[in-house]
Amino acid sequence: MGKMLAAVFHKSNKLGGDIKLEEVDLPYVTKSNQVLVEIKACGICGTDLKIIEGGHPANDNTILGHEFAGIVREVGESVQDLEIGDKVVADPNEKCGYCINCRRGLSNLCEYMASGTTFGIFQDGGFAKYCVLPRSSLFKLPKKIDLIAASLIEPLSCAVHCHNIANVKESDNVVIIGAGPMGLIIESVIRKHPIKRLISIEIDEWRGQKALDLGADLLINPDTSNVQKEIMKFTNNEGADVIIDAVGISKTFEMATNFWAPGARLICFGQDNRAEAKIKPNDIVRYQRQILGSYIGYAEDFLDAIELVANKAIDIDKLITEVIPLEKLILTGFKLMKERKCVKIIALP
Ligand SMILES: [Zn+2]
Ligand SMILES: [Zn+2]
Repeated sequence: MGKMLAAVFHKSNKLGGDIKLEEVDLPYVTKSNQVLVEIKACGICGTDLKIIEGGHPANDNTILGHEFAGIVREVGESVQDLEIGDKVVADPNEKCGYCINCRRGLSNLCEYMASGTTFGIFQDGGFAKYCVLPRSSLFKLPKKIDLIAASLIEPLSCAVHCHNIANVKESDNVVIIGAGPMGLIIESVIRKHPIKRLISIEIDEWRGQKALDLGADLLINPDTSNVQKEIMKFTNNEGADVIIDAVGISKTFEMATNFWAPGARLICFGQDNRAEAKIKPNDIVRYQRQILGSYIGYAEDFLDAIELVANKAIDIDKLITEVIPLEKLILTGFKLMKERKCVKIIALP
């Protein structure tokens, strides 16, 4: 049997574990609904780091990488609508389609998914030359699409979802807390639409510069400035109509409630299971504010993300800061991620 290079997660006895580049057996189609995909590009996600550090669960001995695009190389006998050579992107979160959440249109909250099915986390993913996935986890891509750019589709679909949940209007002052990769991708989606003002809150200088580069009207560093004061001044005392918390810690959530305008929507996007926050319910009632969660995305958000990438409608070149061979995933890719001097790093298997 042939072999391929893959980045495999090895669970340690404690939390987290180690990622190692090693030779593994080539995967092959075993079920009629499966597709063998030759992976052409796979993005590194903050979740990959979290898995290694113990902040996110994952299965032992699993090939990581859940943001990938590639080319169909083999199809099971019941797959009728994909041909060898078609370009595809993976939706790594496998949904059942029949649980109560799926049937209510909340496929992003599929009960089956919660039991751990994500490709690149609980099942073998994209940091390898090949991956086998069910047809239902693949979206066919337009022929013209660039596959390196297409590896942005998965995180972009989450950003599209967030933008839809926020229901952003032209007259809105928008604040994004956190200019990490997701905060910046969300910014680039929001910037596609007319809004009043866009303010970015970020501690790290490199990331703050990126936020300005992608079109933020104002950057505030909460370590050196009074965020509430700066925002009220910049918005002529209007405050923020839409706040996207792309960090999700206690501090950022509570910060958001210092400058939210009457009628504001606060979107909780960043995840941290340890975060707790104090809030006055009457601040919500009296000013008809909304606190909304945004979690991954729907299939329709994937379709929108595909169009944004295919039409080069977002700043792909500014979002992909590094393209590296898979061999350099750990020494270069994960190193840059830890140093935070990157937006998206794409590995080429
Ligand atoms: Zn991810
Ligand atoms: Zn389901």
